[in-house]
This record gives sequence, structure tokens and C-alpha cells, in this order.
Amino acid sequence: MAPPRTGNGRHFLQIPGPTNVPDRVLRAMDFPTMDHRGPQFSEVGNKALEGMRSIFKTDGQVVIYPASGTGAWEAALVNTLSPGDTVLMYETGHFATLWKTLAENLGLKPEFIAGDWRHGADPQAIEDRLRKDTSAEIKAVCVVHNETSTGSVTQIPEIRAAIDAAGHDALLLVDTISSLASLDYRHDEWGVDVTVSGSQKGLMLPPGLSFNAVSEKAVAASKSAKLSKSYWSWAEMKGPNETGYFPYTPATNLLYGLVEAIDMLHEEGLDNVFVRHQRHGAATRAAVKAWGLEVLCAEPRHYSGVLTAVLMPEGVSADNFRKVTLENFNMSLGNGLSKVADRVFRIGHLGDFNDLMLMGTLCGVEMGLERAGVTHKSGGAQAALDHLAGRTKSAASQAA
Ligand SMILES: *Cc1c(COP(=O)(O)O)cnc(C)c1O
Repeated sequence: MAPPRTGNGRHFLQIPGPTNVPDRVLRAMDFPTMDHRGPQFSEVGNKALEGMRSIFKTDGQVVIYPASGTGAWEAALVNTLSPGDTVLMYETGHFATLWKTLAENLGLKPEFIAGDWRHGADPQAIEDRLRKDTSAEIKAVCVVHNETSTGSVTQIPEIRAAIDAAGHDALLLVDTISSLASLDYRHDEWGVDVTVSGSQKGLMLPPGLSFNAVSEKAVAASKSAKLSKSYWSWAEMKGPNETGYFPYTPATNLLYGLVEAIDMLHEEGLDNVFVRHQRHGAATRAAVKAWGLEVLCAEPRHYSGVLTAVLMPEGVSADNFRKVTLENFNMSLGNGLSKVADRVFRIGHLGDFNDLMLMGTLCGVEMGLERAGVTHKSGGAQAALDHLAGRTKSAASQAA
């Protein structure tokens, strides 16, 4: 079935995931499905597994699941923990809250450090809590790298340093579902034990694959972890993966696409990919400021290159603005989730994205604000253009 027609021209999919899938990746998947136990499959399997090690920046085990990111969240917990274990989690926003609920449902005891949905996780709060845990009840610290509901980034090296400063032995589990291949990330160097990710955001693929990158310490923990698992078991994956195969049917055609997407990322160079995202984030914030609106993230150090959540003026419906923008300009923007429902809209600027796509997006937002009757100043798109052209102070200092 062809997708329903949304209007003339290409639909602007500017939600922070799923993201635009490049034509090259679409074409790489447009092949007959091969025998996943046949002699040719191992080339695809090996390339996908090896390629993902290069994206996570790890020499350790990487596990690929035919599942959404939520599955990989569950996998990270059931492979490393036992029923009743305490895990320390941090309320950066909606996704951190969902991960906490998932932990509860599995029979873990999450301790949730409250946050205001406008910042990344506070390393000091984590260090203070760990220092008080003299009987080592806390088995893992779980944080979301890029909180997709708010556009706030947690600085993972600071969280690692906080755990080390407290002299605590807890595992560090990090959700990079919306940050991997968009923001700088280094699984091994940053001392992360399990990194969770998914296919449909920075990796530029359709939904359907998710990942765990696993440290040696996490593998060791998995040997005595007592939570029930079968489908998610790292141990079941390990043997077949060593020769490029999987214990059950992998998402074959998504793996063709994954290998292509990884090639594209390395052709551009990961560091260039990260700079591109930061630049688009800064240009978007310049537009928001010029409109006289407020970025939800309240801490410049935590600004996200992946998405920008924008606060609506008091009493103005963000969802009505998004509806008007979709109907008139054929563009989807992200909605506000749970605590910030109808209060914010989110502009995704990640994945397969360039300056002209960003300008189209921001012009669409500006026209949508006008059409929906949202009080704002004009000139946001121009401010973003000035930033992209290097005509502003912040752009000049970024280029330097
Ligand atoms: C999208 C997202 C998820 C959920 O992933 P699904 O693929 O929808 O299961 C979890 N965490 C973060 C940070 C996300 O952006």
C-alpha cells in the first residue's frame, strides 16, 4: 500500500524521529530478502555488527534486535539486573519516565531523581545519592543522553565522573536512542556499561531495529543477573553473531539499510555529522529567539543539536499550531508529551538533513505561526539564515 497522500511536493517530516530516510538507504533495502541462514548472509550480518561497533565507538559486544527502542531498554535491564534491584534514574522528561515505568514493570525498584524537564541530568545529585548508598543497594544508574521530549542533553562524561567520585560500583546505562550518530558519543572512552539505541532517528533508517552496546563489566553482571529473559538474552546472540548470524530471524532488509547508512555516516565523517547537527541546532535557536518565543531547555550547556522544543506563549495551543502547519504546509512537527502536552512543539533537525531543509522547516514554522494567529515577531527565518551564513557573532565564534 502506498502511504496516504499528504499534499503537493515532499512531506516535511520534522518530528524528532522517525526521521527522513535518505533515498540511498531506501534503495539499499529494495532487494529480495535473502536466506538468513544461507552462505551469503554472514557478510551482511558481520558488516552490520562491525559497523555498529564503529558508531558506538566500542570494541565490545554489540547486539542488534528486530525491535523498537523500547525493546532495547528492556534488554539492557533484564541482562544486567535481578528482581528487586534498586536502580537510580533521573527525570529528564517523558522518555526517562517511560524507562522508569518499564523498570518497575520488570520488578526492579527505580529511585527517580526529580527534574524540571528543562535540564539534562545533574551529576551532583547523582553523586550525592550514590555517596549515601554505603551498602551498595544501587546496582545501576540509568540516564537518557538526549531527552527527546524536551531537547536537553545530559553530559555523559560528567555522570561517569560522578559515579567514580562517589567510589560507587553501579553500572552506567545510557539511552542514546535519539542521539547516536547525531551527537558525539563514545561508549568505551566514556566508561558506559550498556548503551541503548534505535534505528529510526540519527541512523536514518525506518523504525524496527534497536541496539545494545555492552561493556565487559556488563557482560560479567549478565552472568549472575536473575531477571527472566530469553528473546533479549545477550548470551543467546553471542555465538551466532560471532560468524555473522542471528539466533532467530533478523530484520534482513533493515540490515541492508543499516550497512548503507553506516557507510554514509563514515563518508561524511562522524565528526562532521556532529558539527552539522550542532550548527542546525544553533540556527534553530536563533530563529526561536527572533520570534520572541522560548526554548524549553533552560541550560545552554544542555542545548540539543537533535531537536528544539519551543514553549508556546501562555494560553496558546501548540497542538492547534501543529495542526494548522500540517494542513497548510504539509509539515509534521513533534508534539508536547505528557507534562508539556499542548505547551510545546518540537522541531526535529536530525538525521539526513541539510541547510535548505532546515530553512524550509523554519519558514514553515514561521508561516504556521502567522496562519495560526500565534503572537510572534517576524524575522526568525532570517535570523537562522544569518547564522548559517556566518553573519552572527555566535556563528563566527563557532566557525573559529
Ligand atoms: C524514541 C525514543 C525512545 C523510544 O523508542 P521506540 O523506538 O519508540 O521504542 C526512547 N528513548 C528516547 C530518548 C527516544 O528518543
